[in-house]
Amino acid sequence: QKIPQVTLNNGVKMPQFGLGVFKVDNAADIKNSIKWALADGYRLIDTAMIYGNEQWVGEAIKESAIPRAELFVTSKLWNADRGYEETKAAFAASLKRLGLDYLDLYLIHWPADGYLESWRAMVDLYHEGKIRAIGVSNFEPHHLDDLMAHSDVVPVVNQIETHPIFQQKELHRYLTTHKIAHEAWGPLGQGKSDILVNPVLTKIAAKYGKTAAQVVLRWHIDRGVIIIPKSIHEQRLAENANIFDFSLTEEEMQAIAKLDQNKRLSRNPDDTE
Ligand code: NAD
Repeated sequence: QKIPQVTLNNGVKMPQFGLGVFKVDNAADIKNSIKWALADGYRLIDTAMIYGNEQWVGEAIKESAIPRAELFVTSKLWNADRGYEETKAAFAASLKRLGLDYLDLYLIHWPADGYLESWRAMVDLYHEGKIRAIGVSNFEPHHLDDLMAHSDVVPVVNQIETHPIFQQKELHRYLTTHKIAHEAWGPLGQGKSDILVNPVLTKIAAKYGKTAAQVVLRWHIDRGVIIIPKSIHEQRLAENANIFDFSLTEEEMQAIAKLDQNKRLSRNPDDTE
């Protein structure tokens, strides 16, 4: 099954599906999950400085036989590193830990005050060819309006909490209008809700011989959203990637749209310090 690619607003192609490694905090789990994921066809890996695992991600990449150009590696700038020089230093440190000479995507992790200076540094790194695409995470429309008023470079993606009970319908429309790709974090609701036993989803799952998790992931794909579900289990990694041989009908998409409670399970970006 072939993983679709999305073309970002700067022309760079990004896999629409990949692996998230938040809370994977030991070398063995990182290395195994990346090894299994790559064997299943995953090419996008999403990490961040604050996850504390960039070095192991780098080692896993080095141990794989996949050519660097086929991989799509994302990392993120942490709030404590806001500022122009600080951002350049933080980026260099991430790259070093990962053992890479460029990143495919670098994101401002949260809209902490000072993001304009960080963005300026990221734009310079982008123009120097050290990052193929730059974007943001957890930005609300007012942060994006501000960023775009101060820069000619529009973020390629906004990575935001998105799952069936927090669908981000308004922000999704805003992002579409501005040609910023919508990337979901917590695409399965982070295991914090009972969404995977919701009867609307289990019924659709039964029809296709899929699991509710696969239906949720497919819903994101059919909505045009980029997803990075996390698992450290071989069977679930395979299950999550096995979503490209079916698609949902208009009626099924609408039934899932109705599950939206507009309810965050995690932190509100406006509370970023
Ligand atoms: P997720 O929605 O991907 O949920 C992961 C959890 O779902 C797993 O720990 C497991 O318990 C469960 N799960 C996975 N596959 C399953 C399956 N097939 N069946 C049943 N349960 C399954 O949550 P996440 O890891 O928080 O989000 C994905 C990625 O997004 C992260 O790993 C990270 O890379 C990124 N992220 C970014 C931010 C941000 O602020 N930018 C915040 C959180 C996460």
